[in-house]
Amino acid sequence: MNESVVGGPERTSPQVYVVAIFMVGFHIACLGVFFVGFSWTAFACAVAMYVIRGLGITGGYHRLLAHRSFKASRPVQLMFALAGSLAVQGGPLWWVAHHRSHHRDTDSVNDIHSPVTKGFWQSHMGWMMTNEAFNEKGANARDLHKFPELKLLQRYYAWLIFAEILLVYLFGVALSYFFSDLGTTGLQILVWGFFVSTVFTWHTTFMVNSVCHTWGSRPYPTGDASTNNLLIGVLAFGEGWHNNHHMFPLSSRHGLVWWQLDITYWMLRGLEKLGLVSDLKLPKFARPTESA
Ligand SMILES: [Zn+2]
Ligand SMILES: [Zn+2]
Repeated sequence: MNESVVGGPERTSPQVYVVAIFMVGFHIACLGVFFVGFSWTAFACAVAMYVIRGLGITGGYHRLLAHRSFKASRPVQLMFALAGSLAVQGGPLWWVAHHRSHHRDTDSVNDIHSPVTKGFWQSHMGWMMTNEAFNEKGANARDLHKFPELKLLQRYYAWLIFAEILLVYLFGVALSYFFSDLGTTGLQILVWGFFVSTVFTWHTTFMVNSVCHTWGSRPYPTGDASTNNLLIGVLAFGEGWHNNHHMFPLSSRHGLVWWQLDITYWMLRGLEKLGLVSDLKLPKFARPTESA
């Protein structure tokens, strides 16, 4: 994983080991399903956590914070950022800075997670276990530093995750105590609601970087390898229309034709109707030049 630099090999950052241990550990924790068993209650918790945190990443981290593709009040922005933070994909300023670098350097040697220049594994998750991932100090996210609440989320991100783990477990304990008919336990809710849900959300997000720069259609000549991919479009709440997104990065809508399901956009439209978000940006020319 070490990158060679002039003057000799660079020492691997301790953070690389920490991330690697956590990423492997979270996957192993998912095997806990064979020990804690299944209940529909635990499954429902996993789905709910997937939806809330997934939309926190797509609507919050990505479309709001990284691209400013719509407007939201400070409290609404904080709720989006909090939901994104709980997805265990790094603090908001770090995530946004890396994502903006990806748009700036798409599929070039400077793109830290391009499958074209770095390989599939590196683009999927390997990049988070390199020194480069932690050299990013958030310079690309300076505009967000005017929001102290986002800086706090970034600073106390690790504590937030520990609190989340504890709260999910305690929620499961409370369910088993007060609603024993549901047949669940604290550990079962923790494994399904937190670990399985987190790892599933991880891979759907990571596939936007790996799969959506490898397989799919390219209706727009964006000059990079970005693709539209139906499977990721559905699983990642609209983020799989990634060629559209590289063409119109400021658009709050990624699915640009009627059949390109874009759950995030429809959520934003719903929030707009409720008066919680506004000024949803759309491309002037919103249809692909050829069939997607
Ligand atoms: Zn991309
Ligand atoms: Zn983007």
